[in-house]
Amino acid sequence: MYKVGITGGIGSGKTTVCKVFEVLGIPIFYADTVAKEIMVSDQLLVEGIISTFGEESYTLEGELNKKHLASIVFNNEAELAKLNNLVHPAVFRAFEGWVKQVDQKVPYILKEAALLFESDSYKMCDTSILVTAPYDLKLARVMQRDQFSADQVKARMDKQMSDEEKAKMADHFIVNDEKNSIIEQVLTLHKQFLVAAKAY
Ligand code: ATP
Repeated sequence: MYKVGITGGIGSGKTTVCKVFEVLGIPIFYADTVAKEIMVSDQLLVEGIISTFGEESYTLEGELNKKHLASIVFNNEAELAKLNNLVHPAVFRAFEGWVKQVDQKVPYILKEAALLFESDSYKMCDTSILVTAPYDLKLARVMQRDQFSADQVKARMDKQMSDEEKAKMADHFIVNDEKNSIIEQVLTLHKQFLVAAKAY
């Protein structure tokens, strides 16, 4: 199965772009959503989180105690790396399982991941797309969507790998600003992927 990774900074519009691919019938693996799900359902991962970050990582009802984990990993690179080292391999396993059960008649699949390049998960893909948008537009979009202050969004944006760094690793680009149509750009890439997938 030909696999396309898609990423972009917070508010770049990667999920919005994925919706267009979905309309074209392309199955999408949303790595960030799956990561949240398996932090509760993957027993091996749950045990790893508890042994690293303590019993209080989960509520008595078995829900993830996000506040507890956030208080440990926020602004602490080493602790964040520990969490990522537990979660990323589990997401990789979930992705492999998902690829196996996808309808094999689809021409290709997409993997959406905020940390596609940082987590090395692009290495499990045959090609990659970076969705970009101007800083101020990303800021405005996330403030509107999440009802965050500019400072809250900036703190998150400034923590991420820059678009310049990501661009060095990406194969394809979608510019999601107010001038360029994402639908046209998706259609252009879709045609290229159909050709690449046939030759795969
Ligand atoms: P995150 O990393 O935070 O999940 P994202 O990259 O997946 O963000 P989206 O959620 O797709 O970004 O988009 C952020 C917000 O901007 C959403 O509310 C979305 O509806 C809006 N948005 C994205 N692209 C466009 C566009 N081309 N026109 C109008 N609104 C857009």
